[in-house]
Amino acid sequence: MSGQLTPMMRQYTDTKEKYKDCILFYRLGDFYEMFFDDAVTVSRELQLTLTGKACGLEERAPMCGVPHHAADHYIKRLIEKGYKVAVCEQLEDPSKTKGLVKRDVVRIVTPGTVTDSSMLAAGSNNYLASVYLKKGEAGLAYCDVSTGELTVSAFPEDDGHSLLDELVRLDISEAVINEQDTPGFCNELRDLTDAYINELPDSYFTLDHAERIICRHFHVRSVTGLGIEEGSSVERALGALFSYLLETQKMGSSQITSVRIDHRQDRCVLDKTAIQNLELLETLFDKKQEGSLVGILDCTRTAMGSRLLKKWIREPLSDAGEINNRLEAVESLSDEILVRNNLREGLKHIYDLERLSGRIAQGGANARDLIALRNSIRLLPEIKDELADSRSSLLKAESDAIDTLEAICDEISAAIVEEPPISLKEGGLIREGYSEKLDRLKADAKESLDWIAGLEAREREHTGIKKLKLGYNKVFGYYLDIPKSFKGEVPAEYIRKQTLVNSERYVTNELKQMETIVLNAEANINCMEYSLFSEIREKFKESVPQMQKTATAVAVIDVIACLAQTADENAYVRPEVDNGEIIEIKGGRHPVIERKMEEDPFVSNDVFMDKSTSSLLLITGPNMAGKSTYMRQTALIVLMAQMGSFVPADSARIGTVDRIFTRIGASDNIARGQSTFYVEMSELANILNSATPRSLIILDEIGRGTSTYDGLSIAWAAVNYLSSRERRVRTMFATHYHELTELGERFENIHNLNVAVSEADGEVVFLHKIEEGSASRSYGIHVAKIAGVPEEVLADAERRLRGLEQKNQDRDPDLYQELSLPREESRIHEQLPADKLQKKKMLSKPEEETEQISFLQFSNHPVVEMIRSLDLMNLTPSGAIAVLEQMKELVKDLE
Ligand code: ATP
Repeated sequence: MSGQLTPMMRQYTDTKEKYKDCILFYRLGDFYEMFFDDAVTVSRELQLTLTGKACGLEERAPMCGVPHHAADHYIKRLIEKGYKVAVCEQLEDPSKTKGLVKRDVVRIVTPGTVTDSSMLAAGSNNYLASVYLKKGEAGLAYCDVSTGELTVSAFPEDDGHSLLDELVRLDISEAVINEQDTPGFCNELRDLTDAYINELPDSYFTLDHAERIICRHFHVRSVTGLGIEEGSSVERALGALFSYLLETQKMGSSQITSVRIDHRQDRCVLDKTAIQNLELLETLFDKKQEGSLVGILDCTRTAMGSRLLKKWIREPLSDAGEINNRLEAVESLSDEILVRNNLREGLKHIYDLERLSGRIAQGGANARDLIALRNSIRLLPEIKDELADSRSSLLKAESDAIDTLEAICDEISAAIVEEPPISLKEGGLIREGYSEKLDRLKADAKESLDWIAGLEAREREHTGIKKLKLGYNKVFGYYLDIPKSFKGEVPAEYIRKQTLVNSERYVTNELKQMETIVLNAEANINCMEYSLFSEIREKFKESVPQMQKTATAVAVIDVIACLAQTADENAYVRPEVDNGEIIEIKGGRHPVIERKMEEDPFVSNDVFMDKSTSSLLLITGPNMAGKSTYMRQTALIVLMAQMGSFVPADSARIGTVDRIFTRIGASDNIARGQSTFYVEMSELANILNSATPRSLIILDEIGRGTSTYDGLSIAWAAVNYLSSRERRVRTMFATHYHELTELGERFENIHNLNVAVSEADGEVVFLHKIEEGSASRSYGIHVAKIAGVPEEVLADAERRLRGLEQKNQDRDPDLYQELSLPREESRIHEQLPADKLQKKKMLSKPEEETEQISFLQFSNHPVVEMIRSLDLMNLTPSGAIAVLEQMKELVKDLE
């Protein structure tokens, strides 16, 4: 095809060939044009008119274009729609070139590499991730190109699941991944995120290449100096990340000045389900920040603070020492209101130092950025001083980390005018007095300008034409405008340039000479201003690491001050945090729901969990009573404590957790062909496989998506598994299977709770108060009534319920025995001593009030009878074997 194309179109197709996965913005004069498939795509996506251009082929090439000055707007929209854009510029001045103008791609804009502030959300990071996945292990490197933050993390022995969770948690915008033998990984990532995924060949991930590119970037001899293991997947992932950045950024990534190694064991891990279900960053229903945890907590004053707060929420700590450091800092600012107010007042005026320094490092900052930088730097000494004697070691350290960057502040004040234009090439940037040479140029130009400015008066005088006017336009430059009625009085030396309806426009040789002087001087001035500005910006590059360190310190201070402020406004308290096993919350509240309550106050509740007496809380209660709220608020309080925040409670003691798992509500993934029940079971599987004895699990309604017996059995087995002696994972389990509550009466570490309801004159009032023992009913029909289900249906349901209840009383106990017996046998050793059992029974409702099915009626079974009748003191080893054989025979049918 290209053989017949015109030279220009051949240049286009050759360039496009190199950037196949991008939309090519091809510069033609004042426009960026797109051709062929790109033109069709862009015209469809951006609603632009599709035209055509003769290209040498029989058919015209489809074409659409955008004006060059508005290109960023269109690029932004394409990026938001998930495309990559390659910008191909003219590298020569067309007016000075014969033949085809040289063109090449000067930048590639991709979702994960944009730096333009108009394309970025101020309060959120924009991550580009690089993943190397091979044979059950993976390396991850991710960075925010706009701030220069870079982190690496290893995933040894990972089948991709923890890595997927991590990528979703980071909410990445783009990923580069090696083309691997497990294509399922990229598909799963596509399902879980909107990230743009680049599957790159192995050549991007070779060790040789990685070593070279990483060492060159950080000026080190070996990657081990950075804390990265030589030959590791992390090294390969980081190498590919730098290659990709080089390809897209063209000018390198000098904003990346350090690398953080993330050992994930230092923090409490949250998977995507927990982040979504607990509504940490956005609500489940409408994906808004308002109504989420961050919506309540975020009163940060800076964009970097806002980003850091989200990070703290997504990455709570797990070590009590570190957590207490943060809590101490929050407490100090909570106590010292004046300091806090002063800090927050100062922080309000600090711009996004992180992204400003990123732009300076990349050479993309404009003069307004520098003024914003100067205005921010000016406030730093005040902030530093406020915290210089802080009683919090963390705040003191952050205050010490602030570099007040005086030299930069002074230089900007001396060099840049107070309100510079956005454009860097049209002058008006540099202050008088900064450069003698520039001032001289300006003074010379001023003389000529003054001459031109005085010309109108002089020529009126000289010609006697009172209506003579001096004018200027871009095409003709300066001219003298004279109404046609004075045509006869125009002096002979005037040269006519343009005729309008009512007037003629003239120039004189002298005016043209002056104009040339002025225009040349202006061009020289603009050029000089630009080069002075570039020099300053270049010089500031050296200080980027200090700026970044300062930005980080400011962000931490902002978040701490924000948490202190929120704690104050919402009456939160400092939790006691240790690495023990107890979670004890008195008067706990749900941080979001309590703020939404308008008429009735939120009812606070207590929680107690430990390994020996209540590792698993079985919560029953009517629909709408507040079971989910109770469990979620507990998870949120634990999370808030571990991120270093005060908590909504009267008091709280938190034994740190290493992971928070949630299984809440029903959702299906029809797109992936997964039913509601399948999703529920895969979430349960993940929890059961991944939970450790230090985890916290919230299970809301396990097994509800299948038949009662199936569901009940699964729920039963899950409770058994999690509460077994070797695990005893701290778990809150809300269920409508009242049958399960018998476990709470049998086993010392399972504890029954229910939500109080008062019934009077047939009306049900939800008290939302958690109390000891198990619930008697579900009140589902009552909730259906409140929800507006028609009376006829309600009456029918009532009738049927009574019928079923009656049947239940005459039910076949063998069926239930079959469900329960095998598990019970394995846990007989955990049964409570008789006195404790009695006490637990008293706490729960009297037998006749409940409609529970007894699962534990196995006392009639012959095996139990055998055990009872055994005389252990006189049993020989061979006798024991014989008894076991008999037992085995008796339970054969149960398998
Ligand atoms: P279901 O079994 O139907 O899922 P549930 O028992 O889990 O219901 P929640 O969803 O936790 O009930 O609570 C229902 C509503 O009750 C909440 O939306 C909230 O408005 C209110 N509520 C819950 N807990 C409290 C509380 N402690 N104080 C005041 N109102 C509460």
